[in-house]
Amino acid sequence: MNIRREVLAAIRAHAEREHPRECCGILLAAGDEIVEAVAAENIAADPLRRYEVSPADHLSQIRRCRSESGGSRIVGVYHSHPHSSAVPSVTDLEQAWTEYVYVIAGPSDGSAEFAVRAFGFDGSAFQEIALATTPAGGE
Ligand SMILES: [Zn+2]
Repeated sequence: MNIRREVLAAIRAHAEREHPRECCGILLAAGDEIVEAVAAENIAADPLRRYEVSPADHLSQIRRCRSESGGSRIVGVYHSHPHSSAVPSVTDLEQAWTEYVYVIAGPSDGSAEFAVRAFGFDGSAFQEIALATTPAGGE
């Protein structure tokens, strides 16, 4: 799957802005390219350890995609790990469903090299999806 350079930068900026809380947001794609990361409110009761995308933010993006003909679609969600690397946690496994791509970014505390990785859920386990960076839109 492809992801625009500016989307990677936006996810990283959001992760750093929300640190030490987990950030989260919605991923929009056109074809097999992730073209936008829309920041969402993390409404989890414990945002230091969990994330839950605000249903209102989710719904507004569903509406937006439906209203823009030939535009983008929601392909998944992203979130950050403040203190651990960009691999799915047990909690992530419990929340996963097969329709979405899960992009994880971390760690945002600088304890290891920051990375952004994508995973798909096959019903029992996560499988990594290779991400290829593409130039910013319009280039
Ligand atoms: Zn996680």
